[in-house]
Amino acid sequence: MSNPLFSHYSLLLNLEEPWRVSAVNLQVEHSRVEIEIDYGESKACCPQCSKSCCIKDHSPRRQWRHLDTMNFETIIKSRIPRTNCDDCGVKTVAVPWADKHSRFTLMFEAFAIVVLEAARSLDAGRKLLGLSWGSANTIIKRAVDRGLALRDHTEVSRVGIDEKSFLKGHSYITLLNDLDQGRVLEVVPERTEVACRDLLIKGLPTDWSRFKVEAVAMDMWPAFRNATEDLLENADIVYDRYHISAYLGEAVDLVRRAEHKTLLAQGDSSLTGTRYSLLRSQPTRTEKHQNILDRLCGRNLKTSRAWALKESFQEFWNARNGAFAEGIFRNWYGWAVRCQLKPMVKVAKMLKRHLGGLMNYFKHRITNAVSEGLNSKIQSIKASARGFRSFENYRYRILFCCGKLALSPKIAH
Ligand SMILES: [Zn+2]
Repeated sequence: MSNPLFSHYSLLLNLEEPWRVSAVNLQVEHSRVEIEIDYGESKACCPQCSKSCCIKDHSPRRQWRHLDTMNFETIIKSRIPRTNCDDCGVKTVAVPWADKHSRFTLMFEAFAIVVLEAARSLDAGRKLLGLSWGSANTIIKRAVDRGLALRDHTEVSRVGIDEKSFLKGHSYITLLNDLDQGRVLEVVPERTEVACRDLLIKGLPTDWSRFKVEAVAMDMWPAFRNATEDLLENADIVYDRYHISAYLGEAVDLVRRAEHKTLLAQGDSSLTGTRYSLLRSQPTRTEKHQNILDRLCGRNLKTSRAWALKESFQEFWNARNGAFAEGIFRNWYGWAVRCQLKPMVKVAKMLKRHLGGLMNYFKHRITNAVSEGLNSKIQSIKASARGFRSFENYRYRILFCCGKLALSPKIAH
């Protein structure tokens, strides 16, 4: 290898004999460099059994995109040798610069992953790299599959199951999150029991990893509970406090809507524009919200009674321990079932039916709040990627950004 340019590129590509650069074709007008690589021996190892075999022939010329050289798009071209093994037949030899079936070199993929992770959106990232949507999605898929194959599930002990709307709210996806490490383990379409079983089996793929789970935060949705009880035999179900707050909020809103109608018929518009003030939780309330609430509570309204019930349920979560919490629940329940506000009675009865899972909060102290944080990240993925035509692309993108996976290919040095 006397040509210094060839040696230079061999070094840059980490090539070892018998692979060598045999031509460098610089196309200034296209800002492009093409590097031709040859295999300089008549024997090679069979890619299946590693036995040394004769080379039968070479594949048609293939090409890979490599890292740009000083703003010149850099392409590697090669005809790959094919071995003729007595045991395995004709096989194409693996090349050291790329994974099987990839049209990019390992170094390019590693670089593209860093850019796609750092970019504001998939579109911004792929434009920086000069990639089509299809190529960017392919690199993401390969990275996620590589990361999933290497992922360690043995330390997962507390998880959250959380549903999310997909495609303009017409359908749902369900996520399995590792609450301790703040990562998404798996995503499946739908939120049925079958979907949830699939989610637990894919996200925790061994019997041992499912056996080790101690607690699961979830909504009071029977499909999630049934699948969990069946597959995670040691896990306590913990009903998520944010979902419960949402049920209480919805009940307050039902009371408000009915009362608003009645009051309007009498020419009283005092409930107009009060919805958000009633639904806000205490830490997010502004002075304006507080003034509206003060005004409502000064009157004997059904809505203010419903609101007071919702608010006082916070005391349950703030209890020092399970024994206190149980006492608080009993008092609250007695008040709620006598309040004569149908939506509130309905939620109170539902909470009582699920009391075991509510009380488990005091044993594990977990909520889906971590998942909520991930959810906002997922929301921005959805918003920034101009919609995902297929669920699969959406899943890959979520796991790429929120899975905390080892995405980069291994590059020999
Ligand atoms: Zn072989």
